[in-house]
Amino acid sequence: MPGMIDTHRHMWQSTTRGYGADWTLTQYFVWFYLNWGKKFRPEDIHAGNLFGAVEAIDSGVTTVVDWSHGLQTIDHADAAVDALASVPGRFVLAYGNIQDAPANWTGTPEFRKFFDRRAGDLEGFQIAFDVTGDPAFPEQPAFEVARELDLAVTTHAGVWGATGDDAVRLVHENGYAEPRTVYVHASTLSEDSYARIAATGGSVSVSTESEQSAGQGYLATAALRAHGIPVSLSIDSCVLSSGDLFTAMRTTLGADRAYEHLRAHARGETVTHASLHADQVVEWATRGGARAIGREGDLGSIEIGKKADLVLVRNENSPAMTPLLNPHGHVVLQAQRAEAEAVLVGGRIVKRDHRLVGGHTR
Ligand SMILES: [Zn+2]
Repeated sequence: MPGMIDTHRHMWQSTTRGYGADWTLTQYFVWFYLNWGKKFRPEDIHAGNLFGAVEAIDSGVTTVVDWSHGLQTIDHADAAVDALASVPGRFVLAYGNIQDAPANWTGTPEFRKFFDRRAGDLEGFQIAFDVTGDPAFPEQPAFEVARELDLAVTTHAGVWGATGDDAVRLVHENGYAEPRTVYVHASTLSEDSYARIAATGGSVSVSTESEQSAGQGYLATAALRAHGIPVSLSIDSCVLSSGDLFTAMRTTLGADRAYEHLRAHARGETVTHASLHADQVVEWATRGGARAIGREGDLGSIEIGKKADLVLVRNENSPAMTPLLNPHGHVVLQAQRAEAEAVLVGGRIVKRDHRLVGGHTR
């Protein structure tokens, strides 16, 4: 299968993997935003990104958007990129800083210099910040910087209690809703917001595991499919959920179907044929991610002329891999990261015989 593409992962948090297994979003905010996130040093960001990057390629995720909102200084940002550049995967840095207003940190000469100096070490560069819904739209200067540097904005949107319809409306009404804009979660929005996203061609990054557990809102795939909004999948943070897209695909298919059945039963009806199929979810985890980051031309599918980012899904020691009757269904509902026998990035073997090869991998 094509290498999987994660469009939203807070890789700097990988050193706290699993710690928030029982957290709600409120507890996550208190821990990372209010109390301890600001204590992270550049070397902590480096360690998290390194762990996260190695984990990604090991599980067949060959491209990750590192939604890096812990970059309190340029030293933190350099540490993030140093770690990503040392691992043979594709990494897009979505530069962010939760400890300061986006208009402040995007407006500094140091930020511009960093972009000029380090963008070449990455597969791509985005600007990551959230829109509060304040009618004064204080995020406007940050959108202007993104436009000036010709960069996409990625933003948590439709997160219960944090950012909602006002944010989507302000982005749209002020002319910053673009096809390359990535809305993360988009799970508690009105029909009006989905219509605005659809009309401007933006895409949504769905983090089902995190949303189900932490409470950003019920996954929006039913609304996104109804509005024809492109979907990609993401992990969010391995402090809250798993770090592999096999699990993301599985939970997304299950959650979408559960919602379809639930709504039908409320009407006294029966769903005889599920409307979301496994092949669609595999598409979201691969080509959907490529589309979201503007790389559909060379990533996301196995085609002549595209990069050879590949995952060999095979495990001769696993009874779960026989028989193989429905390949897409097998990838989504049977396989796990242990079945990623080999992984290639741009034709380079980074994992073979179920073991990572090269540096950082023993
Ligand atoms: Zn997030």
